[in-house]
Amino acid sequence: MPDIKHYTELGLVNTKDMFKKAMAGGYAIPAYNFNNMEQLQGIIVGCAQSKSPVILQVSGSARKYADPVFLPYMANGAVQMVKALDADIPIALHLDHGNNFELAKSCIDSGFSSVMLDGSHHPFEENAALTKQVVEYAHEREVSVEGELGVLAGVEDEVSHEVSHYTEPEEVEEFVAKTGVDSLAISIGTSHGAYKFKVKPGEEVPPLRFDILEEIEKRVPGFPIVLHGASSIEPEYVKMINAFGGKMDDAVGIPESQLRKAAGSAVCKINIDSDGRLAITAVIRKIFAENPAEFDPRKYLGPAREELIQMVKRKNERVLGSAGKA
Ligand SMILES: [Zn+2]
Repeated sequence: MPDIKHYTELGLVNTKDMFKKAMAGGYAIPAYNFNNMEQLQGIIVGCAQSKSPVILQVSGSARKYADPVFLPYMANGAVQMVKALDADIPIALHLDHGNNFELAKSCIDSGFSSVMLDGSHHPFEENAALTKQVVEYAHEREVSVEGELGVLAGVEDEVSHEVSHYTEPEEVEEFVAKTGVDSLAISIGTSHGAYKFKVKPGEEVPPLRFDILEEIEKRVPGFPIVLHGASSIEPEYVKMINAFGGKMDDAVGIPESQLRKAAGSAVCKINIDSDGRLAITAVIRKIFAENPAEFDPRKYLGPAREELIQMVKRKNERVLGSAGKA
């Protein structure tokens, strides 16, 4: 493992201050997933240019892909790059969907400033006990912990569920009190992946359950809530992918207006993964289709990174409301 004892050595921060300010300011912190250099640079430059705080997020399998030893230094590279750009934005490194204590511990011990323990597939008591175990280890080291109640439908890395179960507001208070978590992911109609709903052409997607969110806010006032599976599956990217040989006809996501509304509430963190994947894939497909002789990775990964910068800036401004808040 890397020779790192604590995230502060990497120039990272936990999510405590970020969430406090987001709650007071009526916006949400973007949590963008990455697993390679171009994605990471796209996210970090987009956030530096829009002066937005950012949570860099990796799932267990993304961490494995990037290499657990290499990964913390990538995050430190992002911190150094932001400094060189003269942008002073807070950066957290977060484990997305950690599903056991050992994985969370291993991340904390190698420089993560925040971890999620997703025990939502377990019964309530088991979920609470597992989450509490991680909270105890994390809080001794000032690392933030996100828990989850309720189940999101969809597929994302190692997480996959056929149907969603909305969060039961009456369980939230007890879960937060029992575990000591710093934030809670809830299920109010968002979904993982690029195929969030089955809708016919021209049909509206079902709205998020803001009534559940309001009920949760009443029970735990001022407590940071997290939305997973919150990509909009930007139609422009889907169109581009399909126009250049791809096949993503039924891809559909959460409308930006719904996410903006959520960001103004107790929702302090919004996870965006699929949209970043689509941006990169759309650009690369177009370049491959138009320049079949191209074989220099910089010629397609470079423009893909540039597209990601623009997408991140757009989302920070229009959806999260986090632009200018760093
Ligand atoms: Zn998720």
